[in-house]
Amino acid sequence: MKPDDHRTLRETLGAYALDQLDEHERLRIDAHLSGCPDCRSELRELSPVVRALSLAEAAQVSEHEEPAVPPDLGDAVVRRVSAGQRRRRWQPPRWAAAAAIALLCGAGIGWAAHPDAPAPGPFEAVQVATSTPAIHASAGLVPHTWGVEIKLTATGFEAGTSYRVVIVDDTGVHTAAGEFIGTGAAEMRCNLNSSVLRADAGGFRVLGPGGQVVLESDF
Ligand SMILES: [Zn+2]
Repeated sequence: MKPDDHRTLRETLGAYALDQLDEHERLRIDAHLSGCPDCRSELRELSPVVRALSLAEAAQVSEHEEPAVPPDLGDAVVRRVSAGQRRRRWQPPRWAAAAAIALLCGAGIGWAAHPDAPAPGPFEAVQVATSTPAIHASAGLVPHTWGVEIKLTATGFEAGTSYRVVIVDDTGVHTAAGEFIGTGAAEMRCNLNSSVLRADAGGFRVLGPGGQVVLESDF
């Protein structure tokens, strides 16, 4: 297996752990796991995060008005991620960061994917424009050595709806910077991380479920 194939396969371990793969994919991962101790141990390390996410989802379903997340989930995820980073250079799987950001933003809790990063870093306020007056938002960015972090504070994103955030580079290419769930009138604060360096980042967009731009910012 080529290193790229293995990385792709490893990134689907999250979906595998959450039982979100179709049968064909699941069997492929099963077959690989039986011969790959690395992936087996990765999967074992994912299980506490998966459990925490399932708990959070259950809590959200039971309190449909105000999404609730176990108060220690953020800490648990950050501990998990930073423990992983200390142990080896392998990055936490992207799905875990995206899922944790989605859940934590839904509850209005900020989350930093890189606990090692200096905080507070240099913060650059940026202008935002929204597609609807219902959304009130302000944003800033922090240029890290690993990419731009967007700090987004907002109300008016439709409660329960998933939004994607992308960084637009100077050539118009979109790079994922995470996801969040709208919180309606409740204020949310999201830290969204991307792998685009500040020098290459021209702005960011928040995309709704149909891919339509609901918020844009040019740096
Ligand atoms: Zn493997």
